[in-house]
Amino acid sequence: MNRRFDSVPIGGPFGISVELNRLDDVIDYEEGRIVLTHGYPRFVPHSTVQTAEATARAQTGRPYAVAFPSAAQARFALTDFALRRRAAPPFELTPPAQQLIDRMFSPSDQGAGELAVAPVQVGDLFVACLKEDTEYRALNDFRRTIGSGFDVHQLAGQDVDTPRGYSATGLVSRLAELEGPGARGSCLFQSGMAAITTLVYWAVCQRRRFVLIGPAYVDTGTIGGRWAAELPGLESVWLPEDVTLDEVEAELRKGPAVVFFELPTNPRLTLPQVPQICSIARRYDTVLAADATLATPYNWRPLEHGFDLVMHSTSKYLGGKCDHLGGVLTTGSTEILGQLEEICEATALGMCANQQKILFENLQGFAPRMKQINQNARIIVDRLLSDARIGPVYYPGLPSAEQESLAHQLLRPGRSGLLSFVLADDSLEALRSFYDRVGSPIAKGPGLGAETTMLCPYVMLAHYRADAAFLAQQGLAFHLVRISVGTEPVETLWSAIERAL
Ligand code: PLP
Repeated sequence: MNRRFDSVPIGGPFGISVELNRLDDVIDYEEGRIVLTHGYPRFVPHSTVQTAEATARAQTGRPYAVAFPSAAQARFALTDFALRRRAAPPFELTPPAQQLIDRMFSPSDQGAGELAVAPVQVGDLFVACLKEDTEYRALNDFRRTIGSGFDVHQLAGQDVDTPRGYSATGLVSRLAELEGPGARGSCLFQSGMAAITTLVYWAVCQRRRFVLIGPAYVDTGTIGGRWAAELPGLESVWLPEDVTLDEVEAELRKGPAVVFFELPTNPRLTLPQVPQICSIARRYDTVLAADATLATPYNWRPLEHGFDLVMHSTSKYLGGKCDHLGGVLTTGSTEILGQLEEICEATALGMCANQQKILFENLQGFAPRMKQINQNARIIVDRLLSDARIGPVYYPGLPSAEQESLAHQLLRPGRSGLLSFVLADDSLEALRSFYDRVGSPIAKGPGLGAETTMLCPYVMLAHYRADAAFLAQQGLAFHLVRISVGTEPVETLWSAIERAL
């Protein structure tokens, strides 16, 4: 029987993370023994969304419900979901949404099957009610991967105050400006995953292969890996981190492509060979795009290095306070920008006004926040590296001279705030003893990029059920600890770590 875990949000009542103060809380969650009442919004919808789902279950008598933020998004997402499973399209769509579906699927992709969802409107939400647990899990995963984000403030009747000087266009300009003079504009999304999904739909529409290189965030990996089998118009390949430049070139020779990678990668903070990949890409019909969420535009501006597109989960460093979910794509091409905006309109995956206001307000302190975060992380890394109780440490520029040279070239003025390590005693007991003893000012829970320092057993959280072969291939230690260093006085952070060692 699942126990309800009255989890404390990090980031206020609408905070996007949750305190998991004991390692056994993490294990209980992963083993399905506890149900979180709060968590990262794409994984554990806010209580206002959970209430709407409960209402819809009661109305239909069906045991499972998956809410979407709007009827427009639900109709599009459920049609995409149905066609992936060779079922008939369940809804009539608006002309732009239908055009997008027609570009992604051909008429022969439609099967005779039926998607057995009972739709219910609860306030502004559109809730798909289901009978089968397997259908529910698949749809829930799909909602998470495409990156649905809800206007939780409006649902709770607590609209966000308009910040001084706020305008929606001002926010877009500010985000574009952060990427340097080459930026032509930005498109805002409900989440980082909604931005990546839009980029992938764009690749499908442009008949470009999606070439993902190196380690990727778990849901991006699902797109780079599993989606190719589901979405007939998508040809994707996921190349490993140690891919050779000849192999990258061989992929790009096959035809027009979008190349996408993260810099730095998570949680080992490695850097791909950007200069070499860029010079190969220039010889082919390639659109270069980077997920620079972890580097942040304070430290890396890909458009200045010849990239066409840069993506951020604004939920992280740009939001900076653990109270916002969003994503952004910024490009140096007005043509691409227009096409992305069209897709965003068809899918209804754009960022709501309340989240835009929070992002605008939180961006005010972005540069000083990043300056402090860069400095703090560097100091903590240096101390970890010289401590015998610590095993491998991961941070941009480690562990080789080649990585250091890339970090020196690309990441300026600093290397951002994420670092990981494994204890010298790499056992579950040692990790439990360390984790349980970490205390204030460090918050223990998933998440990164906030001014509050956050620590988590990242691999246990993200890959609990992964087999040993996958972990070995990704170079991941199961007991790895990740710290997202914040802006607190660095000595208080080091004391909290040292006391727990
Ligand atoms: N990219 C990176 C590097 C991330 O860490 C994440 C989320 O953790 C995402 C993309 C997805 O962003 P979001 O959670 O805002 O959808």
